Amino acid sequence: MDFLPEIIGETVILGLDTLILGFCMRQLSKCKHILNGLQTAPVLDIDSTLNKEINKYPNNVIPYVVIRGLVKPLGTPITSNYNHSVTGVVQRLTIKEHVIARTSAGFWSDQTRTIHEVCNCTPFVLNSGKYSIEVVDALAAELLDMDVISDKFEPMSPGVIDHVWGFFSGVRQRGLQTMEEMLRDGSYITAIGELSKSNSGALKIQPPKDGLPLYLTTATKSTLLKRLTSSRDFLRILVVVFGVVAAAASCRIAYKYLKRRKRRVLEECMRKQLAVGRRERRAIARDHNLTDLQLCVVCTENPKEVILLPCGHVCLCEDCSDNIADTCPICRERIESRAPAFIT
Ligand SMILES: [Zn+2]
Ligand SMILES: [Zn+2]
Repeated sequence: MDFLPEIIGETVILGLDTLILGFCMRQLSKCKHILNGLQTAPVLDIDSTLNKEINKYPNNVIPYVVIRGLVKPLGTPITSNYNHSVTGVVQRLTIKEHVIARTSAGFWSDQTRTIHEVCNCTPFVLNSGKYSIEVVDALAAELLDMDVISDKFEPMSPGVIDHVWGFFSGVRQRGLQTMEEMLRDGSYITAIGELSKSNSGALKIQPPKDGLPLYLTTATKSTLLKRLTSSRDFLRILVVVFGVVAAAASCRIAYKYLKRRKRRVLEECMRKQLAVGRRERRAIARDHNLTDLQLCVVCTENPKEVILLPCGHVCLCEDCSDNIADTCPICRERIESRAPAFIT
């Protein structure tokens, strides 16, 4: 455990890096999955051939399909709140608060917070001539291209009290942005999703079941493919960069560990050499004309030199004392400490 403080920096970097790397890899695999799905998705026209085409698939379901058509409401369309001549099928109203907030580093920076968002949706179809396909669960679309009908920014004129309050709270109001976006009826869009035919013969397009997203966009399939390819390439670069950082941090931890182990081995070697040196010096200095009673009970060669505590037995030479760790060889009591004994 005492190794941890030495590598704390590398461990933190490795931990954070692994988290980001994991996130990037998950996004990359998701991106590849969508790209594969989209590449193999057939582009079909809304006409009489569609029914024949869908009959070729099991359960009359095409898992991922690209279809273009005109948006047409099934009931009464939604009328814009800001421009009464505009009608549509999906409406999103957003109120955003623009503030200048003090960051933790002490700088003031512009920030936007969404404080309110409302979505309205009315059933609609994609239409071409006399054929149409109902779009189900349009709000679940990952990409929902809508026209901005109104975008207003109302600046706030702060008074003296607001300035003082802003200084202490770290947040100064700049104003409110109100935005209305709509998928207008009559717009020509690309729908990408799962196409199915009900028993009554009605066609509908909805979010696919195997994790692929529903797209309702003004872009074409090739534009979407280009966008996905470039985000896949960008994610690949990120994965490589964070992978290199993770490898570098791991290598540095391994290097420090090996260096420390080498140092430990050297220290142990040095300790042993010193012990041998001490032993040799003791051997030279020892009195060799001793009675049996004065000799160590273990080696019976060297004089008794160590007192064991708490039992108080003086029975070992220093060399043997180094090798006996637990109990007194005479009374078997636990050795808690030892001290040099001088017998004259
Ligand atoms: Zn001894
Ligand atoms: Zn003892």
